[in-house]
Amino acid sequence: MEKRIVVLGAGESGCGAAILANKLGFEVFVSDFGSIADNYKKMLDEHSIAWEEKQHSEEIILSAGEVIKSPGIPNEAPIIVKIKEAGIPIISEIEFAGRYTKAKMVCITGSNGKTTTTSLIYHIFREAGLNVGLAGNIGKSLALQVAEGDKDYYIVELSSFQLDNMYEFRANVAVLLNITPDHLDRYGYNMQNYVDAKLRILQNQKPEDAFVYWNDDPIIKKELPKYKHGKLYPFAEERQTDAAAYTEAEKLVFTEPTPFNMELEELSLTGKHNLYNSMAAGISANVAGIRKETIREALGSFAGVEHRLEKVAKVNGVEYINDSKATNVNSCWYALQSMKTKTVLILGGKDKGNDYNEIAELVKEKCSGLIFLGADNSKLHEFFKGFGLPIADTNSIQECVKEAYRMAKPGETVLLSPCCASFDLFKSYEERGKLFKEYVCKL
Ligand code: ADP
Repeated sequence: MEKRIVVLGAGESGCGAAILANKLGFEVFVSDFGSIADNYKKMLDEHSIAWEEKQHSEEIILSAGEVIKSPGIPNEAPIIVKIKEAGIPIISEIEFAGRYTKAKMVCITGSNGKTTTTSLIYHIFREAGLNVGLAGNIGKSLALQVAEGDKDYYIVELSSFQLDNMYEFRANVAVLLNITPDHLDRYGYNMQNYVDAKLRILQNQKPEDAFVYWNDDPIIKKELPKYKHGKLYPFAEERQTDAAAYTEAEKLVFTEPTPFNMELEELSLTGKHNLYNSMAAGISANVAGIRKETIREALGSFAGVEHRLEKVAKVNGVEYINDSKATNVNSCWYALQSMKTKTVLILGGKDKGNDYNEIAELVKEKCSGLIFLGADNSKLHEFFKGFGLPIADTNSIQECVKEAYRMAKPGETVLLSPCCASFDLFKSYEERGKLFKEYVCKL
C-alpha cells in the first residue's frame, strides 16, 4: 500500500476518512484551507495523522495517489482545479469507505426530505433490532464507523455534492425523494447538471437491488428511462398500479414485497411531504425484510428531527414552528401547505437563485403577514410588495421574533421556513433555528 492519500477538509467526513485510511496502512495527509475545530485536531493527533490548516501545501497535495474531498469544497476551488490538472483521482469519503465494508447500503437522496427520511429509516431498522449505522450528512461519518467496527446495514444520507465524487459505490437500496432546483450556484446554474448528480445514486445498481422513488415527480419520471437500476418501488399519494405504497380511504397501503396497511392517523410525522417520507421509509424497511408490525409501530413512534417543522411553543395562543432547515423554496412550499391556520411566514437569508413564484399562491392563501430576515431583503420586497400583506423588514433574529409576536393574532401560527441559506446572518441553519427557539421561549 504505497499509495499516499490526501484528505481535503478536516470536518466529520474528512477526519473519518483520514482515520480509516490510516488504519488501512495508507500514508495520510489532511489539509484544510480554513481552521480545523479543536475536537478534530485532537482526533487526528490521537491517530498520529499529519495535518495542516489555513493553507494548502501544493507540493504534498499534488503528490497524492488519490484525494478524498469533503463535499463542502466546490469544484472551482483553485486547489481542486490543480489536482484535476495533475490527473489525480478525487473521490468522496463515502466512495472511499464503501470500498472497505460489506454492509448493505440504504442510500437516500433528493432535494428535500433527506435527513428526515434517513433518520426515519434508521429508527425503523433500530426498532427491528438490526446492527445498523447512520451516516452521510448526519451523525458520525461512514468512514469512521467502518474504521471502528463494521455494521450490517448503513443508512446513508447523500447530498448531490457527495454523489458528485462517487464512482464505484453501490446502493443496495436507493431512495430518490424528489428533484427540485437547489444549489444551482454549485452546478453552473444548469439544472440538468444537478439532476445528473442526483441520478448518480443509481450507478452500479444490480437487478437484485431496489430503487424507491416518488412516482409523481416529473423530473424523475423523465430521467428514469435513461438509467439502469434495481427493482422499481415507486410510491404515490393516490392509488397507482405498480405503486409499492399509496394512500386510500385514510390508510397508507404498502403492496410489496409484503402487503400491509396502516391508518394514516397512526403516522407520527404530519404534512404531505412527511407522508412521502414515511412511504419511502416504509418501503425501504419492507424491502429489507423487516416485519410489518415493526414498520407500523416505528412509523408511529418516530420523534421527528430538529429544525424540520419543529413545534417550539405556544405563546398567547400563537403556535411557533421552527423549519429553519427549509433552505429552498420547495421545502417552504411543503411547510406552508401543511399549515392549518393563518400563518405569519418568516423568510429570507442567503438567496440561492430563488424563484418565489412557486410559493406565491400559497402565500396568498395561507399568510396573514410576512417577516423578512436577512442581510439584504430587497429581492423579497420586490417580489411580495403587491401581495397586500403586512411586511416587516428585520436583520436580526431578535427583531424578527419581536415582529412576529407583534404581528400574529391568537389562533395563528408563526412559521420560520426561510427558503434561503443562513450564512448571511448565521453560522448555519442550526444556529438560526436554535436562536429562533431561544427568543421564542423568552417571549
Ligand atoms: P434535507 O435533508 O433534504 O434538506 P430535511 O429532511 O432536512 O431535508 O427537510 C428539510 C425541509 O424540507 C423540511 O423542513 C420540510 O419543510 C421540507 N421537506 C421535508 N420532506 C420533504 C419532501 N419529501 N418533499 C418536499 N419537502 C420536504
